[in-house]
Amino acid sequence: MNTGKVTLVGAGPGDPELLTLKALKAIRAATVLLVDDLVSPEVVAHAAPGARIVHVGKRGGCKSTPQAFIEKLMLMAAREGENVVRLKGGDPFIFGRGGEEMEHLRAAGVPVEIVNGITSGLAAATSLGVPLTHREHAQGVIFLTGHAQQGASLPDWRMLAATAREARLTLVIYMGVSGAAHIQQDLLTGLPASTPVAIVQRASHPDQRHAVTTLGEMAATIAAQALASPAVIVVGDVVRGVAAAGHAVSAVRAA
Ligand code: SAH
Repeated sequence: MNTGKVTLVGAGPGDPELLTLKALKAIRAATVLLVDDLVSPEVVAHAAPGARIVHVGKRGGCKSTPQAFIEKLMLMAAREGENVVRLKGGDPFIFGRGGEEMEHLRAAGVPVEIVNGITSGLAAATSLGVPLTHREHAQGVIFLTGHAQQGASLPDWRMLAATAREARLTLVIYMGVSGAAHIQQDLLTGLPASTPVAIVQRASHPDQRHAVTTLGEMAATIAAQALASPAVIVVGDVVRGVAAAGHAVSAVRAA
C-alpha cells in the first residue's frame, strides 16, 4: 500500500514573512492542503500549482468544518498516497488541536510530522516591543486559553493570579476577549488593578490593532475599543512603557 503522510504545519501569526523555511518547503511539496481560517492567503499562495486546497475554517460567516470531518479528510487523503499538509495558524501545538489530530492519525497508522510556527501570543507581544520574559519584570510566561472545551473547566484564574504575582510570570491569554469581564474579576483577586495589560487583535496582519490598559480597566477597554477575536491578551509588568493605544504594525511589516 502506498501510504502518504500528513504534516501539521504552523503558518505563523499572519505576516507571511514569519513563516519558517521548513514550513515553506512543506507547503511547496504538498499535494493536498487543508487550511484553517486564521492562515493568511499569502502563505497558501506558496502551494504548488496543481495542489488541492481545502479551506476548513469559518469563512464568510459559514460554520467551520467539524473536527471529526477534518481528521477523516486527512486520513483519506494520506491513505490515497497524498502528501497532506494541514496548515494551522500560529503553532500547531499551541491551542490548535494539533495534539488531537496527531494522535488520531498515528492511531490510524498514518505517519505524521510537525513543523513549528510562531505562535500568535509571541508575535502579539513582540509587535508592541514587549518581551514576554525580562530579568527585571518576569521570570517566565504562561500561555492560557480563556475558552475551554465544552464540559472542561476553565483555568483557575484566582490561583493563576496569585502564582503570577508571587513567581513574577507574564500571562498570555488566547481566546479571552469574549470572557474578559470574568477573567478580569478573578485575576483581580491576586493581582493589583494597576497591572499593565495589552490586547492585540490580528497581530502581525496589516490591520493589526492594539490597546494598552490596566487589569482594572481591561474589559471596559476591550468594549470601548471594540477589540475582538482573534486577539491575545498579555498581562504583566513586561507591558509597562508601551504606547497607550494605536494601530502600530509589527516591526517586520513596517520594513
Ligand atoms: N495555534 C494558534 C492558536 C489557535 S487558537 C497559535 O499558535 O497562535 C485561536 C486563537 O489564537 C484566537 O482566538 C486568538 O486568541 C489567537 N490568535 C490567532 N492568531 C492571532 C493573531 N494574528 N493575533 C492575535 N491573536 C491571534
